[in-house]
Amino acid sequence: MPEEPSVAYVPDRVFTALDDTAREGLAVWVEGSRIRAVVPSAELPAGVAVERLPGTTVMPGLIDAHVHLNLPGTGGRFEPLVEDDATLAVAAAANARAALVSGVTTVRDCGSRGVSPFAARRAIELGWSEGATIWAAGAALTVPKGHCWPFGGEVDGVDGCRAGVRAQKAAGADFIKVIGSGGGTDNTVSWLAAFPTEQLRVIVDEAHGLGLKVTVHCTCAEAMRRAAAAGADQVEHATFYTEGNGFRIEMDAIEAMAKAGVVVTSTLAISALQAERMTTSDDPAQRDTWRRMVDNWLEGGRLMHEAGIVHVAGTDAGWRYCDFQEMAREVACLRQIGLGAGESLRAATSTSARVMAMDATGALEAGRYADLIAVEGDPLADVSALGRVRLVVHRGRPAPVAVAG
Ligand SMILES: [Zn+2]
Repeated sequence: MPEEPSVAYVPDRVFTALDDTAREGLAVWVEGSRIRAVVPSAELPAGVAVERLPGTTVMPGLIDAHVHLNLPGTGGRFEPLVEDDATLAVAAAANARAALVSGVTTVRDCGSRGVSPFAARRAIELGWSEGATIWAAGAALTVPKGHCWPFGGEVDGVDGCRAGVRAQKAAGADFIKVIGSGGGTDNTVSWLAAFPTEQLRVIVDEAHGLGLKVTVHCTCAEAMRRAAAAGADQVEHATFYTEGNGFRIEMDAIEAMAKAGVVVTSTLAISALQAERMTTSDDPAQRDTWRRMVDNWLEGGRLMHEAGIVHVAGTDAGWRYCDFQEMAREVACLRQIGLGAGESLRAATSTSARVMAMDATGALEAGRYADLIAVEGDPLADVSALGRVRLVVHRGRPAPVAVAG
């Protein structure tokens, strides 16, 4: 057996994401696709190739816990879905590559159509396409003509819910995504819950019976209450819309999620991106609405963090004006709602891996995949370092790096 290629990365400091500190003097020793060891660089055996990375911190590659690989993040919404699934698979692979070159080594796809996310996932696994590892839900389950229906996941009634979970599992789903309220799809209502609790419970029970975790899109308090009551593992967005796009935080919904141990995916940066990147052809009144939304969403996030809810970082890339390279911004939002420096980096790495049941990535320790990045500076001292990625290694192989600030 030929030996696997081996290299030790020696930066100024290493953040393993197993705790909240970065340490100097360490080397991350990679062999093949895995981490062989994280050891004091002085203890590396003679003959191991060393790549010095002065001025940088080496840390796990980022995990974006909420993306839509079919969509471009250029302001349109479902427009690409006029194309067939094969074309959408190519789009998905291209978006996974855009994520990778910005330092995101894993993306969790929260809704795409047909075989497209699974085909892109397979092409990347085979090495035919270079991109972030894909963890995919397939089509998000939704009520007839509910939010995200263009992805093809409409289900109706208890039997339909059960069949929907089985269909996504059979298609290759790594987890189940459910649309628990309306959202940004035309003719759906963000402040109204979609599935009754009984149906959510059927989805959760069926999914758990198949070994799949369940996350629920929730943009109103009632949807969060139902998700918590149904035993869902996770909630996406967790925003508090009220009638007419108003906003009112309802603490009992936060407490219900905290008590049930529901994890929240943040998606906090997208409202600011929307306000900044809207073009003149967009309605200017909408821009003010989005600006107001920024503060509302941050306030909700702060209260959830205070209540003890665990956050993971997700951008909603692909949707609206959020592209696939915004994780630095999302983690900065997590700092704003009160997560500590190490806690916010773990929300984008090891905590996310644990919540997604992807323990083979997300931290730097012997045996895990060599998914890692080197960023300029110290991201614990200055979170903007995440935007200055100097090296990306995915499954042991160096990838190109996006030109960044
Ligand atoms: Zn989404």
